Amino acid sequence: MREITHKLATSVVLPDATGRFSDVFDPNNGGVQARVVLGDRAVLDAAVAVAKQAQPGWAATNPQRRARVMFNFKALVEKNMDELAHLLSSEHGKVIADAKGDIQRGLEVIEFCCGIPHVLKGEYTQGAGPGIDVYSFRQPLGIGAGITPFNFPGMIPLWMSGVAIATGNAFILKPSERDPSVPVRLAELFSEAGLPDGILQVLQGDKEMVDAILDHPDIKAVSFVGSSDIAHYVYKRGVDAGKRVQAMGGAKNHGIVLPDADLDQVVNDLSGAAFGSAGERCMALPVVTPVGEKTAIALREKLIPAINALRVGISTDSEAHYGPVVTAAHKQKIENWIQTGVDEGAELVIDGRGFTLQGHENGFFVGPTLFDHVKPTMEAYKEEIFGPVLQIVRAESFEEALALPSQHQYGNGVAIFTRNGHAAREFAARVDVGMVGINVPIPVPVAYHTFGGWKRSAFGDTNQHGMEGVKFWTKVKTITQRWPDGSADGSNAFVIPTMG
Ligand code: NAD
Repeated sequence: MREITHKLATSVVLPDATGRFSDVFDPNNGGVQARVVLGDRAVLDAAVAVAKQAQPGWAATNPQRRARVMFNFKALVEKNMDELAHLLSSEHGKVIADAKGDIQRGLEVIEFCCGIPHVLKGEYTQGAGPGIDVYSFRQPLGIGAGITPFNFPGMIPLWMSGVAIATGNAFILKPSERDPSVPVRLAELFSEAGLPDGILQVLQGDKEMVDAILDHPDIKAVSFVGSSDIAHYVYKRGVDAGKRVQAMGGAKNHGIVLPDADLDQVVNDLSGAAFGSAGERCMALPVVTPVGEKTAIALREKLIPAINALRVGISTDSEAHYGPVVTAAHKQKIENWIQTGVDEGAELVIDGRGFTLQGHENGFFVGPTLFDHVKPTMEAYKEEIFGPVLQIVRAESFEEALALPSQHQYGNGVAIFTRNGHAAREFAARVDVGMVGINVPIPVPVAYHTFGGWKRSAFGDTNQHGMEGVKFWTKVKTITQRWPDGSADGSNAFVIPTMG
């Protein structure tokens, strides 16, 4: 059986293996295609020791040279895009075009990092007081770590590692054990791009490795993306250990459809946003809220044939709209949620359970599913399903529609579909959600803006990438300076100095 292991600095002396492994499946066929080693504190210690040695030299490398590594890396990823996308798709199950999008969105963060010298220029005030100048600059934290989910094995590791490394840190990545190969490949390409040994290491593992990272005194910051309960746990344990922590969690994003929306556009956008990547996106739109009875009827009428026309296929099928979900356990969980929706009294309009694909009967496929008359009191509405399941939650008014995402426990993304600029503006201003799309179904911000939700979708107060990412991976130092000019006047040094 193929074994996937860590990507450590060449000088790391690997301690004895734990003997623990996790299966990596082929979601198209349901079989085990590899096993990934699960590391422990001993491997982490060895990696941190090397990172500690390497980091000061990297931090002292001028930012232009650090940026050149980013330029080289970008070119290498582009050159290897096909191979990376196939590898990603073979473990995750998303279709190839979508796998390329996963890598490309990460690469856009690397493009932002190519401009790191400009970003790190700092601030300067000349003459803040008599003969006094004040300036500030940002310095790396030292060693940072990232813990990532299965659903974007290219993009999310690059969100974190790109900015952490470009700002002068050493970085340790603990990817999802469900699709661990692409992060290893990306780290190999970083080495090829000229990144010094020990600056980026990938450590495979599960909870044991996560806990070791959270407790390690030499790791100064942890960025986490995954489900909310674990995000909250990581946040608390990391902060307790004195670390800086950002921890992004789950989501239940709503698409609000006002009566004046372009329904053909909405249906097209919703099909992709609800079912693309089998609904396994934190910015998917699994809830649609038509406002008013007429809108609900018209939307439902157009949605049903569009959903029935979706093609579910293996991830290398170029005609498929989406592929299998990541594991059999996840497929079961999704199907259980569908049953919960039925038990709670929602109308199951299209049932995707029991879906099989000829020739791939053991693959982890779930057919597209549509519910209508879902109520905010239902558990199937309150919780994240993370599968190809779209729920219609009807609202009678703009205010009722605005309240739904605002009062939901998650607040990652939301979209409004309308031709009314005033309504959209009002919605964007008042909705209690972190990222808003106006006639844009998946409002994932571009790399030079920042990504982050609200409420139980994110713990901590700094977003991913863009300037927020730079702030997260650096600490600011502020210098107040004056040079002796022979004008000491004997003024009272015992009173707090002011510039007045
Ligand atoms: P997950 O929470 O199961 O796993 C995430 C990471 O945590 C993995 O690296 C995993 O090894 C580790 N982990 C798992 N159990 C743990 C435990 N008990 N203690 C410590 N660490 C543990 O998430 P997932 O299923 O891989 O990813 C899907 C989830 O991630 C969804 O909830 C999705 O909404 C969320 N997500 C959020 C964002 C965002 O930016 N808000 C982005 C992508 C995915």
